[in-house]
Amino acid sequence: MDKIYDVIIVGGGPAGLSAAIYAGRSNLATLLIERAGEGGQIATSSSVENYPGGFVGEDGAVLAARMAEQCKGFGAEIVYAEIKEYSLEGEVKRLKAYGKEFCGRTVIIATGNSPTRLGVPGEAEFAGRGVSYCATCDGPFFKDIEIYVAGGGDSAVEEAIYLTRFAKKVTVIHRRDSLRASKSIQDEAMANEKISFMWDTVIKELKGKGLLDTIVAENVKTGEIKELHATGEDGMTALFVFVGMKPETEIFEGILDLENGYIVTDEEMRTNIAGVFAAGDVRKKSLRQVITAAADGAIAAANADRCLSGNV
Ligand code: NAP
Repeated sequence: MDKIYDVIIVGGGPAGLSAAIYAGRSNLATLLIERAGEGGQIATSSSVENYPGGFVGEDGAVLAARMAEQCKGFGAEIVYAEIKEYSLEGEVKRLKAYGKEFCGRTVIIATGNSPTRLGVPGEAEFAGRGVSYCATCDGPFFKDIEIYVAGGGDSAVEEAIYLTRFAKKVTVIHRRDSLRASKSIQDEAMANEKISFMWDTVIKELKGKGLLDTIVAENVKTGEIKELHATGEDGMTALFVFVGMKPETEIFEGILDLENGYIVTDEEMRTNIAGVFAAGDVRKKSLRQVITAAADGAIAAANADRCLSGNV
C-alpha cells in the first residue's frame, strides 16, 4: 500500500511552505506537492519589501528558495506534480496526479491564485510574444523601448516601477481616473519620470504580425479609440497585465464551500470537510500578502496536527 502521510500540502507558495515548516517541525510525515517551482506568486515578484526580516531589494524567488530549504530541513518531502483529482471525504484522503496517487490523513490546500486575463482579442495569441503577466520574468526582454502596463492596483504600479529599469518609457493604462494601489507605491510611480498614466482607458484589442505591435485602447469617458503603436525600430512593444488574481478552484465546486471562487474556512483554516484545510490566497480573506499566507500555513499545520491527535 502507498505511504499514508500525516499531512499533504498542495501548493508551494509561502502558505504551503510555511505549513510544511510547521508540520515537519512537529514530526508529522509531511509531503508538499508543487506543480511548478517553489514560491508561487512571490517567485515572480521583483521585490518583497514588506515581509518582516526580508532584505530590501531581494527578489521573491530567493526568499522562496530559503523557505523551501527550511522546510526540507525539518524533514518535509517535496514532489513536483499537478493534482488532477481530489478524494477528500473519509479518513484517508486520496490525491491523484498523472499516473500517481498520494494518500494523507489531512490535506492543506494552498494552491494560491493566478493572474486574471483581460479577455480581449489577441491576448492569448500574443502571450509570450509581447503580452506578459510577470515583470521579473520578461522585463529584461524589453530594453529601451516604450511599453505598457494594464491595471491600477499594487501589482500594476509596483511592477511598472520595476519595468523602468529596462524600458525607455512605461505607460500605465487604467480603467478609472484614480489608482487602487497604496499611497506610497503611487507616490513613487508619480515621481518616476519614465512612468506616465492613461486614465479612464480600457484595452479593446491587441494586434501585431507575430509579435505585439499595436494596442487598441478606448477612453471610456469620451469613447475615443486610440491605436498605440510600437515606436522603436524593431516594431515591437509589450503589455504587462496586472488586473488582479483568480484562484483555480473549479475542481472543488460542489465539494468545498466556495465564495467567489475562494475556499471558505474558519479562523483555524478548517474547510467544511473534516481534516481538510485551506491556507493563503486560495481562501476567502481580506488581505492577501506573504505574511498572511505564511500565517495561514502555520495555523493550518497546527490544526492538522490537532486533528490527527483527535483534539479538534
Ligand atoms: P487588485 O488590487 O485587485 O487590482 C487589480 C487592478 O486591475 C485594479 O486597479 C482594477 O481596476 C484593475 N482591473 C481589474 N479587472 C480589470 C479589467 N478587466 N480590465 C482593466 N483593469 C482591470 O490586484 P493586484 O494589484 O494584483 O493585487 C492583489 C493583492 O495583492 C492586493 O491585495 C494587493 O494589495 C496585494 N499586493 C500587495 C503588494 C505590496 O504590498 N507590495 C504588491 C502586489 C500586490 P479597479 O481599481 O477599477 O477595480
